Amino acid sequence: MTEFRCIVCDRPLLRTLPAYERLPRVTSDCKPWPAGGQLAVCDSCGAIQKLPDRKWLDEIDRIYRAYQIYHLSGGEEQVIFSADGQAVPRSRALADFVTRRLDRSRPGRMIDIGCGNGSALANFSRALDGWSFEGSELRDTALPILRTIPGFAKLHVGPIDRIEGSFDLVTMIHSFEHMVFPGKALCDAARLLAPGGRLFVEIPDVENSPFDLVIADHLAHFSRATLRMLLRRLGFEIEVLENTVLAKEITMMVGKGQPGMAPSDPTEGIRIVEAALAWLASIIDAAWRAAAGSAKFGIFGTSISGTWLLGAMGERVDFFVDEDIKRIGATYHGRPIVSPAEAINGSTIFVPLIIPIAERVIARLSRPGIQFVGPSDIHR
Ligand SMILES: [Zn+2]
Repeated sequence: MTEFRCIVCDRPLLRTLPAYERLPRVTSDCKPWPAGGQLAVCDSCGAIQKLPDRKWLDEIDRIYRAYQIYHLSGGEEQVIFSADGQAVPRSRALADFVTRRLDRSRPGRMIDIGCGNGSALANFSRALDGWSFEGSELRDTALPILRTIPGFAKLHVGPIDRIEGSFDLVTMIHSFEHMVFPGKALCDAARLLAPGGRLFVEIPDVENSPFDLVIADHLAHFSRATLRMLLRRLGFEIEVLENTVLAKEITMMVGKGQPGMAPSDPTEGIRIVEAALAWLASIIDAAWRAAAGSAKFGIFGTSISGTWLLGAMGERVDFFVDEDIKRIGATYHGRPIVSPAEAINGSTIFVPLIIPIAERVIARLSRPGIQFVGPSDIHR
């Protein structure tokens, strides 16, 4: 047991998982990060979390001081593919999802906490005519870009509890998982809600995203169940809590309600984290086995999981494969990025993605002369 209290149930029943310490890690802006971290699970509620001890706080300080967001695609956001096959930036898909659920009969006021360079604010600005938009960040570096967003009013620099104002929509899009005190962050966000206002949060889903555990600077690793527990305890009225809006992510939209009791069962959380840690270790083993018989070894993908695997295999990695035309032709951590067609015959390419996505990639790209290996091959 550790001296820390659980971020969800507040009980001092956090147990560290020794298997985690051996795994290499990666930063959320895609740089390899060494093994040696601590991950814990709560024996009361099953919530999975890092421990904000001195070592972790020092590490995130180093990570954020060197932080680069979307550096590889020249500052452009990752796209997702909608049902009709259209490529849409992630935050535009989310802005559409949120605005459909808002009262748009009169203009309102929105703040995006952890607004970064304003990609979400820009998409909300496009969807919400006449609204005013504010952001909050740790630094004011992006202010010149934010000022170009129609309706942009103000950037708040500093912690959430210093923000003044009352908002119809408060958003945290991929910022909540970085917060050192997630419960406090939700309460601070709730304090900013106008009557009838909504809080919208988008975070990684630990049920479908084992790679999220090895992101060194993500503190909280929620499942729908543990997030629901926290929201009930803090007194939120849940309107949306789903993991199907975007793949591998939890989407939640809540309003203010009454605090209540939430039943607490650690079984699911313990099962999720133990399975995920074993799976991550087996990915590294499988990639080394695949590389052993191959002249040239490549990794598919140049984001979180590809970078993490590079950190685990180091010099053995000869190249990266990516389908993003903005990335092909560049180098990534000193290796060339080639298109699937450019990979030379005799190469082995490992696809470090969750099984259903890896299988789709391999089925689509398979061709004679190239051996694709993915997580489905682990037990063969
Ligand atoms: Zn707990």
